Amino acid sequence: MQNPFQNAMSQLDKAVKIKDFNDLITKLRQPDRDIRISIPIKMDNGTLKVFEGYRVEYDNARGPYKGGIRYHQDTEINEVKALAFWMALKCAIANIPMGGGKGGITVSPKELSSGELERLSRGWVQKLSDILGPKKDVPAPDVNTTPEIMAWMSDEYEKISGDKTRATFTGKPIEKGGSEGRGPATGLGGFYVFDSLRAQLGLPEKCNVVIQGFGNVGLNAAEIFAKNGHKIIAISDSKGGVYNQLGLDLEKLITHKKSTGSLADFADSKNLTNAELLETACDLLIPAAFENQITDQNAGNVKAKVIMELANGPVTPEADEILFQKNIPIIPDVLSNSGGVTVSYFEWDQNLKGEHWTEKEVFEKLLGMMNDSAQKVYESSQKYSTDLRRGAFILALERISEKM
Ligand code: NAD
Repeated sequence: MQNPFQNAMSQLDKAVKIKDFNDLITKLRQPDRDIRISIPIKMDNGTLKVFEGYRVEYDNARGPYKGGIRYHQDTEINEVKALAFWMALKCAIANIPMGGGKGGITVSPKELSSGELERLSRGWVQKLSDILGPKKDVPAPDVNTTPEIMAWMSDEYEKISGDKTRATFTGKPIEKGGSEGRGPATGLGGFYVFDSLRAQLGLPEKCNVVIQGFGNVGLNAAEIFAKNGHKIIAISDSKGGVYNQLGLDLEKLITHKKSTGSLADFADSKNLTNAELLETACDLLIPAAFENQITDQNAGNVKAKVIMELANGPVTPEADEILFQKNIPIIPDVLSNSGGVTVSYFEWDQNLKGEHWTEKEVFEKLLGMMNDSAQKVYESSQKYSTDLRRGAFILALERISEKM
């Protein structure tokens, strides 16, 4: 497995070859702080188990540290550092007054009972409450962390700190201070970015789309693209995927997965491995699962016209080069998945002001901001005659340096 933090730093190296930012880059080569904690939990069978947890505060030049908490068996400090670094850039590209942070716990959450998961989530907050707060560090959900987990964390923070704004955690359920529209925000924001850049990238009005990932981001994106007249010809989860050149019926596929536990053997479609899915011919390929999926091993076989990264870090720097040579544009994660943090920012703002916006208001604001970010990134890539990732990095670094 490639080190995601090294990948993030080599992306930075490539961007600063085009425009240097001197001291800012020296500063951005490490986080402000990375914290590792042990969280002891009494398991349901009476034994004690200790889990390793993390919070990385990368940079707060533009505002409080902001970023999700990931629960995964492979989560480790280098992954959390990379994700926190990308958050600093993402918040700058989205033009929201927030900095970059990220957290996690090394755990396979499906192996815990609901009670164990709640004690673990509250334990993470107990160890870190001193550094958290609406004006200091504002966590959110990421892979395997749900609105319910955010509600436990928000409640624990309120008990410890006495702060009743509920603005320290975003991604909460609506009745616990969450925002309308946070669930589909990342997939929807990705769709707005695609729609804004589609013609500039030479894609047809109706695209054949392939998606890796069937979770919050992948499934929401699939539904939104399909609703807007695009055809989802292949989609996968961790066990593999399915393909139908005529387009998959997503509603029926969701029911099929619920009843059988997997996507495999869906009516009128062909089973695919994740490796095959990434090499399927299509207009748009959306990796929406995990990092390091398109590497120097398979980039040469990619047959998509355009890639849009909705996962964080799915294309390695080596694959980036190969795809660049093959003329396959990549809409980078720091732009295309910033809809999630943008609506998280709306939630924080509503909590601090004691307001609750309608879903229509949320989506209208999101559309305006995603369009603006997409076009600013495109202009930056044109101005410096480079790809969208380097264009996005330069835009972010310009905005961070203005505040430093
Ligand atoms: P999730 O846990 O809801 O879903 C992850 C999905 O990926 C699941 O369907 C899982 O089966 C699938 N998966 C796991 N391993 C896979 C593999 N090897 N191949 C194919 N599929 C695999 O997580 P999510 O919230 O949808 O996050 C997905 C990605 O999007 C992550 O990189 C995350 O950091 C990023 N992201 C999420 C948000 C958000 O708001 N949730 C925001 C920005 C970025």
